Amino acid sequence: MSGDQWIKLVAVLGAAATAVGIGEPRFPDASAAAPSQVSGSSASSFRYEIEEVSAGDLPYSYRPGCPVPPEDLRLLVLTHRTFDGQDAQGEMVVHEDWAAPVVSVFSELYDQGFPIARMQLVDDYQGSDDRSMEANNTSAFNCRSVTGRPGVWSRHSYGAAIDVNPVQNPYVSSGGTVLPPAGADHVDRTGTAPGTIHAGDPTVQAFAGIGWYWGGAWTTTKDYQHFSSDGR
Ligand SMILES: [Zn+2]
Repeated sequence: MSGDQWIKLVAVLGAAATAVGIGEPRFPDASAAAPSQVSGSSASSFRYEIEEVSAGDLPYSYRPGCPVPPEDLRLLVLTHRTFDGQDAQGEMVVHEDWAAPVVSVFSELYDQGFPIARMQLVDDYQGSDDRSMEANNTSAFNCRSVTGRPGVWSRHSYGAAIDVNPVQNPYVSSGGTVLPPAGADHVDRTGTAPGTIHAGDPTVQAFAGIGWYWGGAWTTTKDYQHFSSDGR
């Protein structure tokens, strides 16, 4: 993450802190130890909390032997827009290093009015990526292999990848497999239905603002729902 990006993040979260009368930016720099629990809001109705998690909170998405221990993960409780124009409270788990930056991304998406169908832990789907995708669930941490590559840890295993609206933004393998199957109507990317993601759009730009890459830019397999810290 570059200095400019941190300045932007501090501006976002500093404003949030001011709005609730705290007065000091919560994340002054990247090297500061993240507090175990923080919360805040912004001038909009966006709210967030960052909380510690334990293995007991992640009965399906974490197992011993996973590459990142629960103490290095954080639960984010975030306000998001829904497809019917309402506000909802969602939850996702990311690596502690990405907790504050990811909050800043979803604050931007909220302010843009970007709709998100649902945001639940994959544990609500017994850790099944297929079931989570079928439910059009937006999620992050899940200790699992790369889709189609058994034994290779997905970036989701590190809490460093997020899938957004899988039905509107399906995974399309080089062989033409569409996941979730309900995403078949959205393989054609010429449409601009709400909740879809396109190259260079405000959603892609919001993630690019924290240095994250979009799977829709991959050249063979396309993973239109997928954002990650290292482009994998
Ligand atoms: Zn993904």
